[in-house]
Amino acid sequence: MSCTKLKVTLLAHTPNAISLVYAAFRQCYSSEFVGDKFEKWLRGEIPLEQQQTFIQNVLASGHESPVEHVSFTFAVGGVSRALTHQLVRHRIASYSQQSQRYVDAKDFNYILPPAIATNPQARQIFEQFMNEAAQTYLKLQELLEKDGRGKKANEDARFVLPNACETKIVFTMNCRSLLHFFELRCCNRAQWEIRELANKMLAICQEKLPVVFKNAGPKCKRLGFCPEGKFSCGKYPTVRN
Ligand SMILES: Cc1cc2nc3c(=O)[nH]c(=O)nc-3n(C[C@H](O)[C@H](O)[C@H](O)COP(=O)(O)OP(=O)(O)OC[C@H]3O[C@@H](n4cnc5c(N)ncnc54)[C@H](O)[C@@H]3O)c2cc1C
Repeated sequence: MSCTKLKVTLLAHTPNAISLVYAAFRQCYSSEFVGDKFEKWLRGEIPLEQQQTFIQNVLASGHESPVEHVSFTFAVGGVSRALTHQLVRHRIASYSQQSQRYVDAKDFNYILPPAIATNPQARQIFEQFMNEAAQTYLKLQELLEKDGRGKKANEDARFVLPNACETKIVFTMNCRSLLHFFELRCCNRAQWEIRELANKMLAICQEKLPVVFKNAGPKCKRLGFCPEGKFSCGKYPTVRN
C-alpha cells in the first residue's frame, strides 16, 4: 500500500482523422458523394494543408458535429475514485473501469492530495486513516469469507474503501465531447485532480490532431471572457465588452 500518481496513456485514436473530418464537413456542403472521393483525398489529391484550412474555417463558424467522427481512447491509472466519479458524469463517452467486486483491494494504493502532502500533521492523519481503512477492509473480507460469501466478500468489504483509493479506467470520447470536457475541466475552477488529467489529455490531443485541438482549453479561451462571475480566477475579464 502506497500513494501513487497519475498515469495517462493514449491507447488509440481514429486513423486518417484529418481526411475523415474533412470528408464529413465536405459532405455537408457539396452535391458530390464523398464516398467516391475519400481514397483520392487520402492519397493527397487535395493536400492535407488545404484540408486542414477548410476544417479550421468551418470549425470557427461553430459547426462542430463533423469532429464527432474521430475518437480518442485513453487508459488512465493512479487516479482516485473521487476523480472517476466526476469523469463518468461526462455522458457522451464510453467507460470501462476496474471493478471493486472482481479486483481484491486489500493492498490498495491511494492518491495523496498536494495540500495534504505538504502539511505534515494532515499527512500523518491521512496516512493513518488509509492504514486503518485497509485493515478494516481486510477484517471484513475475512469475516465475510468465513460466512461463506467466498469471492463475493469484496462486494461488501469495499463499502469501507475511501474516495482516495486508486482506480484505473479506459475511456473513449469523440473530439466534440473532448472539446467540451476541456472547456469544463481545464478551467481553474475545476477540481485539481481532474484538471491535471484534463491538461495531460489536452497536450496529447494537441500533438495528435492540432487542427481540432490547437485552440482548445478552458471556455474563457474561446469566449475571451470568464463566465464564472465571482468564482473567476481573474485570468480573463468576467464581463464581455
Ligand atoms: C466546476 C464544476 C463543478 C461541478 N459541481 C457539481 C456538483 O456540485 N454537483 C453535480 O452533480 N455535478 C457537478 N458538476 C458536474 C456537471 O454538472 C456535469 O454533470 C459534468 O460536468 C458533465 O458535463 P455535461 O453534462 O455538460 O457533459 P456530458 O454528459 O458529456 O454532456 C455533454 C452535453 O450534452 C448535452 N446533454 C447530455 N445529456 C443531456 C440530457 N440528458 N439532457 C439535455 N442535454 C444533455 C448537454 O448540452 C451537455 O452539456 C460540476 C462540474 C464542474 C466542471
